[in-house]
Amino acid sequence: MKKLRVESGKKVNLAKIDANASPDYDGDKKEGKEELLRLNEKLEALQELLYAEHKHKVLVVLQAMDTGGKDGVIRHVFEGVNPQGVRVASFKVPTAEELDHDYLWRVHKQVPGKGEIVIFNRSHYEDVLVVRVHKLVSQKVWSRRFEQINRFERMLAEEGVTILKFFLHIDKEEQKARLQARLDEPEKLWKFKPGDLKERDLWDQYTQAYEDVLNKTSTPWAPWYVIPANKKWYRNLAIARIMIETLENLKMEFPRPDFDPKTIEIV
Ligand code: AMP
Ligand code: MG
Repeated sequence: MKKLRVESGKKVNLAKIDANASPDYDGDKKEGKEELLRLNEKLEALQELLYAEHKHKVLVVLQAMDTGGKDGVIRHVFEGVNPQGVRVASFKVPTAEELDHDYLWRVHKQVPGKGEIVIFNRSHYEDVLVVRVHKLVSQKVWSRRFEQINRFERMLAEEGVTILKFFLHIDKEEQKARLQARLDEPEKLWKFKPGDLKERDLWDQYTQAYEDVLNKTSTPWAPWYVIPANKKWYRNLAIARIMIETLENLKMEFPRPDFDPKTIEIV
């Protein structure tokens, strides 16, 4: 899965990354889905251990174009994990109170505590994406945010937060098909907002903004992964694998009791 990681300082050209690809996986869709079920169980066990050890904190950032699949990842990759130790934080258009503060204020409040996994459905990156594309602040203001974000994430990492950032990469054709499906299928219609088409018109500007994010904010302490996401099953599988690899590397252990269980008799 190393191929999907954006090396720090390396230039990313999204047009050159095939959103249909399934790097590092030879199986087909059926096999991929079966594999995901096995990985779900592994992730469940690792999350249990993370919770029990109460030492590490894990932050998962999900970003994508509209219809990119953030909700699907949350449903399918984290299926079965214990809700006591996993939380989703969704970042919408900021409230008046949030706008009265710096852009990291609402974000910092949501970061994981010990033993916790927090999934960011959108994030502080919106403040260099939608905010940039729609010129909600000046270039002077948004362009200094990359460095601010790197420093913020570094502080979090130094304080024990493991950070994983996923960009779900779909292409423009796939977005068209997914938007059309929302219009056509009654149970998907609620997800369609006519405003999504305005955002679609800005596809190239968003692509440029995403490339800058990937080029400037993939760091050793908070790497970005570009996940080819036209194939939903591959997207889920790739993220599950990276999560498991990362959690295994934490070398977690169940806490040792300060008593000998053999000496205890329950009458
Ligand atoms: P959704 O995730 O589909 O519910 O939509 C949330 C909306 O909030 C998206 O259109 C985002 O672009 C928007 N949003 C999130 N963060 C910000 C922000 N910091 N400034 C402006 N809009 C934002
Ligand atoms: Mg959404």
